[in-house]
Amino acid sequence: MIPYGRQIIDQADVDAVVEVLRSDFLTQGPAVPRFEAALREATGAAHALAVNSATSALHVACMALDLGPGDALWTVPNTFVASANCGLYCGASVDFVDIDPATYLMDADALEAKLATTAPPKVLVPVHFAGQTCDMERIGAVARAHGIRVIEDASHSIGASYRGAPVGDCRFSDAAVFSFHPVKIVTTAEGGAVTTQDEMLARRVDLHRSHGVTRDPALMQGESEGGWYYEQVALGYNYRMTEMQAALGASQMRRLGEFVDARHRIRARYDALLEGLPVVRPHQDPAGRSALHLYPVQVEDRARVFAHLREGGIGVNVHYIPVHLQPHYRAMGFARGNFPVAEAYYDRAISLPLHPGLTEAEQDRVVEVLREAVGG
Ligand SMILES: *Cc1c(COP(=O)(O)O)cnc(C)c1O
Repeated sequence: MIPYGRQIIDQADVDAVVEVLRSDFLTQGPAVPRFEAALREATGAAHALAVNSATSALHVACMALDLGPGDALWTVPNTFVASANCGLYCGASVDFVDIDPATYLMDADALEAKLATTAPPKVLVPVHFAGQTCDMERIGAVARAHGIRVIEDASHSIGASYRGAPVGDCRFSDAAVFSFHPVKIVTTAEGGAVTTQDEMLARRVDLHRSHGVTRDPALMQGESEGGWYYEQVALGYNYRMTEMQAALGASQMRRLGEFVDARHRIRARYDALLEGLPVVRPHQDPAGRSALHLYPVQVEDRARVFAHLREGGIGVNVHYIPVHLQPHYRAMGFARGNFPVAEAYYDRAISLPLHPGLTEAEQDRVVEVLREAVGG
């Protein structure tokens, strides 16, 4: 099976992890700060905080923004469930803004229309689906005008840029979240990070990723009682990234540009090979450079085409089943028809294999089997 996504691990990555295993620290050592420095450099953010997954990153970012019962979080239906679940973890309610049919990203018009009739949420989570950046300039302005805090779900987007600067610099948001799952652009096996320009927010994320416990006298409520002293000043979690993961991540970050370039070469080749087939190719925003996590196409008769590709050894996938149609969300009252653009997109979507290790021969095979299924 040709996988839809796959990590690229070289000898330097292996050596970096082994070096940690032979060192004094398997957790809470120097590798996490090193990885965070690489993330700051890649994104231009003043602060980067590594955690054990993007799901945890979303949760701590929401906690750091004080999201809680009685508050609301809005995201898009066309995302992984984690973008919405972080609101529920905090006891907030979750609602959705439909996507734009051309970009598959949060529709800023739909956001404004919803805000005209509904109380604004405390937190908005636009998702940079497939590595394309949402219209952050406009979404950021709308959010600011309504007093909404913004967390960019940039899980697909490390290495992307938007209007001339890296995604993750939080020009138009409070924070951005990245994932380092093996199918994403760079990997730490499991892993995630929050970037922000806001020093107080960074401190709160740092606190909440490690039990809400601090050894920083500036954050303590009482006087230090001695060198052993720490205080728990909030209810945090253990969301820390290990040293092995961070060492792998720092090693991977050295090839971030190479990985994104390779994805663009494969994308350009798909664009050319699919020309003339009855397949809608994914939009590429001229105002930015995608990290190209995914190459989602739209086809008629998706179930049949999907089955044909899988039977032909092509590891296609579907991104995403709209979150509001998951049973857990249907139980809250959501139903088909609530977000028709995301639903119509889902009905026709297939993600073709896209990762830097995909060979031209494999790519030709993907297109050949797709052609058999769709005709043309
Ligand atoms: C992968 C992903 C996540 C969750 O990432 P993990 O690191 O696996 O927790 C969240 N949001 C989106 C859009 C994702 O693709």
